[in-house]
Amino acid sequence: MAIRPSKQMINRAIITMIIVILCLTLVSTGSLVKIMIIDGNMYQAKASEQQLYDSLISAPRGDIYDRNMNLLATSSPAWSVFIAPNDIKDLDKESDEEKARQVIADGLSEILDMPRDEIYELTKKDTYYVVVKKRVGKDVVDKIRDFIVSDKDLKLANYVGLEETTKRYYPNDTLASTVLGFVGDDNQGLAGLESYYDNDLTGISGRVVAAKNAKGTDMRFSYEKIEEATQGNSLILTLDSYIQYVCEKYLDIAVEQEQVKERGAVIAMNVNTGAILGMAVSGDFNPNSPFTLSAEDQALVDAIANEEEKSAKRSELLNRQWRNKAVSDTYEPGSVFKIFTAAVGLEEDLITKNSTFTCNHTYIVAGRPYHCHDKIGGHGIQTLQQSISNSCNPAFIQIGQLIGNDIFSKYFSAFNLTGKTGIDLPGEASPYYHADRGPTELASSSFGQTFNITPIQMISLAATAVNGGYAVKPHLVEKIIDSDKNVIESYSNDNRKQVISKNTSNTMREMLEYVVQNGAKNGIVSGYRVGGKTGTSQKMAQILSSGNSHLYIGSYVGIAPIDDPEIAVFVMLDEPTGANYYGGLISAPVGSKIMTDILPYLGYEPQYSQEELDKISISVPDVTGEEINAAKTRINSSKLSYKVIGKGESVVKQLPEAGSSVYNGGMVILYTEESESHTTTVPNLMGLTVSEVNTAAANAGINVEFSGNVSSNTVLSYAQDINPDETVSLGQIVTVYFRDEASADMTESEISE
Ligand SMILES: [Zn+2]
Repeated sequence: MAIRPSKQMINRAIITMIIVILCLTLVSTGSLVKIMIIDGNMYQAKASEQQLYDSLISAPRGDIYDRNMNLLATSSPAWSVFIAPNDIKDLDKESDEEKARQVIADGLSEILDMPRDEIYELTKKDTYYVVVKKRVGKDVVDKIRDFIVSDKDLKLANYVGLEETTKRYYPNDTLASTVLGFVGDDNQGLAGLESYYDNDLTGISGRVVAAKNAKGTDMRFSYEKIEEATQGNSLILTLDSYIQYVCEKYLDIAVEQEQVKERGAVIAMNVNTGAILGMAVSGDFNPNSPFTLSAEDQALVDAIANEEEKSAKRSELLNRQWRNKAVSDTYEPGSVFKIFTAAVGLEEDLITKNSTFTCNHTYIVAGRPYHCHDKIGGHGIQTLQQSISNSCNPAFIQIGQLIGNDIFSKYFSAFNLTGKTGIDLPGEASPYYHADRGPTELASSSFGQTFNITPIQMISLAATAVNGGYAVKPHLVEKIIDSDKNVIESYSNDNRKQVISKNTSNTMREMLEYVVQNGAKNGIVSGYRVGGKTGTSQKMAQILSSGNSHLYIGSYVGIAPIDDPEIAVFVMLDEPTGANYYGGLISAPVGSKIMTDILPYLGYEPQYSQEELDKISISVPDVTGEEINAAKTRINSSKLSYKVIGKGESVVKQLPEAGSSVYNGGMVILYTEESESHTTTVPNLMGLTVSEVNTAAANAGINVEFSGNVSSNTVLSYAQDINPDETVSLGQIVTVYFRDEASADMTESEISE
């Protein structure tokens, strides 16, 4: 009889089964645990051995934006080409090994434009991974891909590979290059903001692994990301691309016109915050190819035969083109520094705006004669305001004597002239000066000689003098943001230290406006109230060492609107070798042109006087296609004149083109038939008054656009953008540059004895 299992038996069997299963599970789990935990290191090591292409994925570098979020620096995809030498060694036959090396060396040397032997040596290295060339472009990538599949027998895909990385890219080429700097081969910042903020911009690298299976041929280039890369943080600058462009444009024109030998610099700063809106250095470079010299500099290098000297010259010129003159070089500021001396005298109640000073041309300090630049016998009795406008050294020596070395030193330090400004750029130079000024050193210091500061210190000092008296910290980065655009850090303008009182600052503004109206007239900006000070300093150290006494720096600082200042523009031209070298003649016009372009851009409406209104440029209307009489009426109502060429009934072509700006009363040539443009010869328009230029232009049938100060009646033209005797179309616009030839900003006392 069959025995039916009792419920108890079934239960027992189930329990037994569970125990068996549990035991089995425990055993296997135990071994798993053992393998994973106890021998973990060994397995990891073995895994690593198999992971031949374990490598870092470079994190995308953060971007750099201007203050309006225009991109100034970014990263674009690029590829590195690598080879796997140890896999070549794993080939079955030695002859195959050698053949693979030859094919790789031949192929890659041609595609990558590299020496064949160099690549051949790399194929013999004892490693599974070596980079042949970093950051190649898409065109090279396509060639490498074609090359890899070109030889079916060798299976080149096993030995040659491409790895995606990033390449730094500057969309505006040279714009702001000196400020931005550039990166090296491994995307590391080497100059400018790229270097100063390298830690913020560099992200965290990720890791990729490409495991090799037992035979290894299939998986080799299929990577597995094990750690994602984290993008670096981005910078939002105080810099404004348009203002930067304007600063660079007028600096470059001046450097060429004045034949400046040792480059020039321009800084545009917000006087209340120290935010840098523009910083231009002439002779800059393209950060996309920072190691490329200008054609001129390259020619200098090429002319040298000796290899060692060639290489030394090349690196000297590279360093020169990268160097930020506005921050890394010091100079004797000359008369622009009189702003300091006047402000200190006023602040300490030693002088007032109406104090008088006598200048008899020569003023003797401790037996040493100091001369005024005014050669006729001195300025006589002048008020403080007149003294600064006349830029009279004897007057400022007297103010320096009233101040004395102790107070002079106290303010020298309070205005941050004893150390670096701490601007967020690498390579800021330290000032140097006499701590204990004797009578003659104090005398020279009070008009800006015998000590050296940087341009960035000079403009910061001027900003403090007019902004209500607050010290500013010049800076270029407003915010740092992460890849999700969260703000991580932002510049704070709190804790500004007040150096001089609001009253003193107000008086300084009045006086600096007086200076531009009466002395530094080339700083005038039509339609705006501007203050400023010019300076011409001698390069004493270089004069003494070279024996060449004709070495000057012409500089200018302009401030606008002077009744409620926002912007300061500083201009320096180092060693002008043309006909002029006074700051008032060569640098003030640059400041005026920059202000003329940027003040309307910043939202300030010009308020023209009637005299100015008569002289401003007019925008040419579009009359092309119009019936001839209607066109004539429109031209006339625009305060322009016209000349009709042809017998047609409507205008088929006009010159100047619509939208061009020409001088009030200029002539528009209206062609009524399709024909060759009538031509004319450009007259010599230099050394003339405004009305003489107008007459000459009208006689020649050309139009003029005026650049620079044309407000006062004493200005003369000094340059034109199309040379005399050139043949041009009738109606062609020629830009003519004007300036006031009177200047009073020399600080010649040092060597004129
Ligand atoms: Zn004088």
